[in-house]
Amino acid sequence: MEYKTDFLIIGSGVAGLTFALKVANYGDVAIVTKRDVMETNTRYAQGGIASVFDKYDSFELHIQDTLSAGNGLCNEEVVELVVRDGPTRVRELMDWGVQFNLYKSDRSVFDLGLEGGHSKNRIVHAEDLTGYEVERALVDRIRENERIILFENHIAIDLITYSKSVKRGVITTTHEDSCCGAYVLDTKKNEVHTFSARITLLATGGAGKVYLYTSNADVATGDGIAMAYRAGASVANLEFVQFHPTCLYHPKAKNFLISEAVRGEGGVLINGEGRPFMEKYDPQKDLACRDVVARAIDNELKRTGHESVYLDITHKDPDFIRKRFPNIYKKCLSLGIDMTREPIPVVPAAHYMCGGVITDTYGRTDIKNLFAVGETACTGLHGANRLASNSLLEALVFAHRAASRAIQELERLSRNPIHDLPPWDTVGTTDSDEVIMVSHNWDEIRRFMWNYVGIVRSNKRLSRAWNRIENIQKEIMAYYWNFTVTADLIELRNIAMVAELIIKSAMSRKESRGLHYNIQYPQKDDEKWRRDTILKRSIEG
Ligand SMILES: Cc1cc2nc3c(=O)[nH]c(=O)nc-3n(C[C@H](O)[C@H](O)[C@H](O)COP(=O)(O)OP(=O)(O)OC[C@H]3O[C@@H](n4cnc5c(N)ncnc54)[C@H](O)[C@@H]3O)c2cc1C
Repeated sequence: MEYKTDFLIIGSGVAGLTFALKVANYGDVAIVTKRDVMETNTRYAQGGIASVFDKYDSFELHIQDTLSAGNGLCNEEVVELVVRDGPTRVRELMDWGVQFNLYKSDRSVFDLGLEGGHSKNRIVHAEDLTGYEVERALVDRIRENERIILFENHIAIDLITYSKSVKRGVITTTHEDSCCGAYVLDTKKNEVHTFSARITLLATGGAGKVYLYTSNADVATGDGIAMAYRAGASVANLEFVQFHPTCLYHPKAKNFLISEAVRGEGGVLINGEGRPFMEKYDPQKDLACRDVVARAIDNELKRTGHESVYLDITHKDPDFIRKRFPNIYKKCLSLGIDMTREPIPVVPAAHYMCGGVITDTYGRTDIKNLFAVGETACTGLHGANRLASNSLLEALVFAHRAASRAIQELERLSRNPIHDLPPWDTVGTTDSDEVIMVSHNWDEIRRFMWNYVGIVRSNKRLSRAWNRIENIQKEIMAYYWNFTVTADLIELRNIAMVAELIIKSAMSRKESRGLHYNIQYPQKDDEKWRRDTILKRSIEG
């Protein structure tokens, strides 16, 4: 089946939904999302949105904190425009029905949290369920908008570009390379549909599932980065993977984060010997930046041989803990951990991808009519390390900017009809008789990425990872073209692609900076390496 639409949005997190609401007055919108609309990293965000509202805070301080986390690689123009637009975007969310925590005595004053790397309290939040509240309100608005059609359980396989379709002989005119939609698998019906669109937005989120341990939702398999790279877009800075220091460590807990805000409210990390240890690693102790805390925990685990460290907030009033962290309290209690009386066992886990598809300040990629917003994009805001709670902010600001530009472009593009595109080609494929290959390769990639391309890297570990990914890639390619496409195979192909790009980027950066730490090059080298790591595939492959 072929669908034709003005805007095709791939992904239903904060980036995709915000963009959709803004462009829907100007054209028809199709949102494809691979599972249930709510199943996104956005809905799991706990801490909140960093923005300047406090009278003792300033844009300059927020800019400074972002730049110092980014360790020399932030784009200063982007940092400034994101920080300055923050308060407007937060208020817009409130207009759309998001209910943030406010001081009861004054409805216009936010209850602002503090997180690591921030010099002032500036985290706007909704209890410890901020992402859920934002996603809920956006989904409510989307559902009531008649110009937006939502396709749940639809996974995008690949972008369609004119160069690709010209090669297949369907479109005979030659165009400068530009994106004209995507092939999308309906996972309920097992049918591939062609979505032709004047403008396509990648809002596919992060890639935490490339690693064995992650805080991310299952949907975070780096699909947008892989699709954009395959289509010939430039990607950057994929070596900068943020590991969140404190994921709940419990055999029955999957991907559950203990928010940074727990340390912001006075929580202290202690090792398996019961001793606080952060003062050994950084003067900011438990409120040091995430990379420092994650490496410190990694070191303590290796030094003591324990399986986890602990986060202790038992010195705070139990009522305060229950009220400030209702979600974390409930989750821990369900597993037999009463955080008001005992420390919480925690370990680091892959959390956020700072790199992604390169965009300009309007979310445009280097393929015409293809935009990228949110965690899948690399805008220059985060540099070598993301400051806590800057990512929801980035998604909101860039969705706004991208929408304003996409609306302008639509006016020009609407002069021509939307093209007919070639249908998905299934000639010669059969149903797989070796599904085990998919799950086996999936596990292997995630495990060696954790062991060799994780918090602490070395040349030897990286070259081991490279050898493995080369072999796996060959296997996947042989398999991919022979068998009927499935959601698992699409995701495997994408995590393999993103893993390869992360390894390649990490091997090329011969220094340690921000989130990338290689024991062979433990120092930062501004002279040679104060630059982005950019990768681009030639269209010929
Ligand atoms: C546990 C946790 C806590 C966090 N806490 C905070 C916080 O407090 N503050 C903060 O600023 N950030 C936080 N983050 C990061 C932040 O939540 C994400 O960076 C942000 O929500 C990303 O939004 P997004 O719209 O780009 O992607 P997502 O919200 O992840 O949405 C991606 C969407 O793309 C869809 N998708 C992916 N691939 C395909 C495909 N091939 N076809 C169709 N659909 C596809 C997914 O199904 C999903 O709908 C946290 C992240 C996690 C995991």
